[in-house]
Formats: sequence, C-alpha cells, structure tokens
Amino acid sequence: STRFAEVQMAPPIEVFAVSKAFTDSTHEKKVNLSVGAYRTDDSKPWVLPVVRKVEKMLAEDDSLNHEYFPILGLEAFSTAASKILLGDSHPAFGEGRVTSVQTLSGTGGLRVAADFLHGVLKYTSVYYSSPTWGNHRLIFQLAGFTNLCTYRYWDAEKRGLNIEGMLEDLSKAPENSVVILHACAHNPTGVDPTQDQWKRIADLIESRKLFPLFDSAYQGFASGDLDHDAWAVRYFADRGFEMMGTQSFSKNFGLYNERIGNLVLMLKDPSCIPAVRSQLTLLVRGCYSNPPCHGARIVTKVLTDPALFEEWKECIRTMSGRIKEMRKGLRERLEKLGTPGTWDHITAQIGMFSFTGMTAAQAKHLADKYHIFLLSSGRINMCGITTGNIDYVAEAIHDAVS
Ligand code: PLP
Repeated sequence: STRFAEVQMAPPIEVFAVSKAFTDSTHEKKVNLSVGAYRTDDSKPWVLPVVRKVEKMLAEDDSLNHEYFPILGLEAFSTAASKILLGDSHPAFGEGRVTSVQTLSGTGGLRVAADFLHGVLKYTSVYYSSPTWGNHRLIFQLAGFTNLCTYRYWDAEKRGLNIEGMLEDLSKAPENSVVILHACAHNPTGVDPTQDQWKRIADLIESRKLFPLFDSAYQGFASGDLDHDAWAVRYFADRGFEMMGTQSFSKNFGLYNERIGNLVLMLKDPSCIPAVRSQLTLLVRGCYSNPPCHGARIVTKVLTDPALFEEWKECIRTMSGRIKEMRKGLRERLEKLGTPGTWDHITAQIGMFSFTGMTAAQAKHLADKYHIFLLSSGRINMCGITTGNIDYVAEAIHDAVS
C-alpha cells in the first residue's frame, strides 16, 4: 500500500496547458496568444541588449563570486528598485520610512508580503479584482488567508472598468482587509483606473481602514514611461498610506527565469523598521534562505549607471511601442472587416494583455479551426501578434465572432 493513493489530481494551470497545446500543434500558421512574456516581431524571446552587455561585464569581473547573498538580498538592488517605484526623491526615503527586500520576482514578493501580513500582522482577509492574475488567490490562500474575496473590476458590457461596483464591494470589506491593486497594466484586462478614480479608491481604502498592496509587474512596459506607470503607487505614497508594493523585473528587464523582484514596505514610524526586517528575515530564512544573485547584479548595475539606465529605457520603449503598434493594427483590421461589436477597447487597453471580449466558445473555435491559442477568458497577449501573422489573426477573430 502507498501513502499517496489518496492524493487527488489538482486542477491544471490554464496558461501552461494552453501553451502546451500550442507547442503540440503542427499547424504551420499556429499562433500563441496565451503566454505571459514579450516576443519580438519574429515571435522570439528577447534578451534586452543592455542586459546582454551587463552580463558580459559580470562574466569578466573576477571579483564576483558565488557566496550566499544576505537573507534579505542585495541592499543596493533593493534601494535602487524602490527608487524607481516611488521616485528618486520621494520624501519617505529621507524620513527613513521605506524598507525593502529582494524577492523571488513578483510572485515571491507577493508570497513574502502575504506571509508577513498573515503570520505577523494576523490579517486574514484579502480582496483581489474580478478577474485578476491567476496566482493572487493561490498565493494568499497558501499563506493562510481564510477570507479570499473578489471585488468587481471588469464591466463586460462597457468593456471597461466597473468603478462603482469596485467601490461598493470594497466598502463592505472588513477592516484590515488587504486590497491587491495592480500598479499599472491590469492583468488580464489591460484596463487601469483613471487618476480621479484612483483618488476615489484611495479615499475608500483610507476610510474603511484597508491595507493597500500594489502589485507592480509592468512598470515602464505599459506606457513606455517609468514615472507614468508608477503614478498610482506614488499617489498613495504621497498620501502617507502604510502600504506594500511588489516589483517584478520579469517583463521590463526580460529576466523571467532569473526570479528578480523587490518587496517595498512604507511605514508611518521608522522606529518599527528593525523589528519588521527581523520578522521578514525569519520568514525568508525558513522558506528559501536567500535569493539568487544574477538578476540582482544586472538590475542594480543598470539602475545605478546613468548611461545603462538610458539604454534600458530605450529597450522598454521598443517593447511597449511594438505592443501599441500591434493593438492599432489589430483594431484597424477588425474594423475594416466589419467584425461585429466595437474594437476601440483594443487600443484603449494598456500593457501586454488585451481582454478582447471573446467568449470561451470563440476561443475554442480559434484553437480548433485556426490553431490560434488564447485563454478561455478571451485574454490575448498582444506580443503573440506580429506583422507576419496579424492578418491571419484578424481574419480568424472575424470568423469566430461573426
Ligand atoms: N503580478 C502580475 C499581475 C503578473 O502578471 C505577473 C506575471 O505574469 C506577476 C505578478 C509575477 O511575475 P513574476 O513572478 O515572474 O515576477
């Protein structure tokens, strides 16, 4: 007999299942619109030239070694990363109210945040948008949160933000609920609140005594401008909220598998920071002990060298620019074909993803007939579209929707 006979099969993770279906397809025109990563106009992964350049510098540097990193990671990295999130000269730095920790990318940052919020502050309730990135719920559930709730976000009819529904749902959240907010380029909808809407969200979070947690996975990648994409986080920071922010350098540096991210904490009272860091140290020590160095060294070098920093910003503009071009091209083609419905949301949405409004049945039709693979929610990765396949994709969507 085996102890493992009673183990139930866990549900598949859709994004990986759809990518596998794409890989398995032998159709010559197959298209993968499901992955969560940047692709060039040749459908290839892109190593940013500035990253390659720094990797070569690091490879030549004999002073570097493979000793363990500190438990909370490279301080120079964390500080530089926090500064691009909050802005170089944010007064909270001078006031000593910011502390940060290198994490295993955005996912790891969220998990350390969740472990701290539940294990140390004893919070049990978390609110995330409906829909949201598929991992938010799982991360908080595994960290021990028991009240896992959604707030309305996407208005299917308007194909935009349901701000009244969002505020109404958050107004019912119990005190000390954590509210996960996407800093920019909301995944999967591509729809962000306007500045006025962010102000209303902040008012409500303040009056209901909720705890804001910003998930920043696409800074710079969304608009092409680091400051623009950090507006909401900085607005909350300026209002003096106690809050956390998680940063991922997967997308904007193309460092997906290096697992490089940062958890930023903003407190009201700097005297609490040593105790907070000591608790974070225990959580990390008991989980993965210390983070990897490669991505941290690359990002630190780029963020702290003005010439490399400019080169990186150029890379970000290349990526966000290509995405915007594909949005424009897809919308133009669908409108020209007279595809039923409105398509202005394709260009109004921001970031890598577009919530097309297509149904699960239409997504299946695209997979079965055209070997075009997307999530059943109708989310597509704009980077899957290239100048070589855009006509094919537009005509297939036209057929699926008509
Ligand atoms: N948060 C959001 C909204 C995301 O879309 C992603 C990646 O797809 C992440 C966080 C975390 O990604 P990573 O763990 O690679 O940084």
